[in-house]
Amino acid sequence: MTLFRPNIDRMAGYMPGEQPQDGGWVKLNTNENPYPPSPRVVDALAEAIRGPLNLYPDPLGTKFREAAAKQLGLEPDWVLPANGSDENLTLILRAFVDTGDIVAYPYPSYILYETLAEIQGGEFRRLLLKPDWSWDHAAIRDTIQNARLVLIPNPNSPSGNLWRTEDLLKLVPPRGVLVVDEAYADFSDASRDAGLLQQPGGERIIITRTFSKSYSLAGVRFGFALAHPDLIAGMRKVKDSYNCDRLSLAAATAALDDQAWMQANAERVRGTRTRLSDALKTLGFAVVPSQSNFVWCTHSTRENKSLYETLKSRKILVRYMAFRNVPYAQDETLTGLRISVGTDAEIDALLAALKSIV
Ligand SMILES: *Cc1c(COP(=O)(O)O)cnc(C)c1O
Repeated sequence: MTLFRPNIDRMAGYMPGEQPQDGGWVKLNTNENPYPPSPRVVDALAEAIRGPLNLYPDPLGTKFREAAAKQLGLEPDWVLPANGSDENLTLILRAFVDTGDIVAYPYPSYILYETLAEIQGGEFRRLLLKPDWSWDHAAIRDTIQNARLVLIPNPNSPSGNLWRTEDLLKLVPPRGVLVVDEAYADFSDASRDAGLLQQPGGERIIITRTFSKSYSLAGVRFGFALAHPDLIAGMRKVKDSYNCDRLSLAAATAALDDQAWMQANAERVRGTRTRLSDALKTLGFAVVPSQSNFVWCTHSTRENKSLYETLKSRKILVRYMAFRNVPYAQDETLTGLRISVGTDAEIDALLAALKSIV
């Protein structure tokens, strides 16, 4: 006999990327920013620590919402702060998905969506991408018609490619909600406004953004959703009262205020990304042109898994991924390495190691 709900009993649970707790690693496996956050964040945290930590934080994160709304030309009731984007995704599943409802997401992509659907008791459907990571709109039309929720990372992970607005608008389910997970948008050529929400159908689109990647705050846990106030109000009903603490609210508000710092780091990452992509190609890898802070690559002759293991034995950590049930891949399993763009020195160390291996 099991005590768990049947769907929880059946599911495997999400496996986050490895987070080694000892030093000395070149860590290129979970897309953190290699550069530190703005000094304004450190100052804001120092001030918050001296503040009234005995008192609960603002349950609505008013200061942050006002700052984010102002920057995007929206009203604060279009903004929902959360304990990382992953929490916003959980809130979305809880607010919109009932047992048996269809939750669709591109495949291969961010597997967490599947786990969240399983927890909620939803039925997930994989929207199989073409081998060049573009959409097969005709093949997925029926699923979109019947979906309650469609979740799309843009840029996608693990591929790093960016889809156009016209593609996304075709994916708004007529009886549901489209979530565009913009975790990596600051590294792309796309505009940073929330213009998608003003498009036809935009009243059923939710954008999620995070401070973990471009703002260098993965260790603090903060993200926010942008959507029509009706959607935000429904999501707010299912959140913990105090989902963002005083420290994360202070850090995120200060980080948002220093756009120049974030942009400069994103620019450095983009520069290193070009150099990494070119070098990987000369080493025999096929590399997807990336609009993100990582690249997806597959070697023409070597096994991706053994490359990952050899690098790991040298204390260089990249992400090996294997996606099953991909009909166009060898043995129906798409494998590859997702390599985060680190500092120039980290990427030099990676490339030197790869050169000696392949
Ligand atoms: C990193 C990542 C997130 C998680 O963001 P957090 O704010 O750290 O929870 C969400 N979606 C995608 C696609 C990501 O890669």
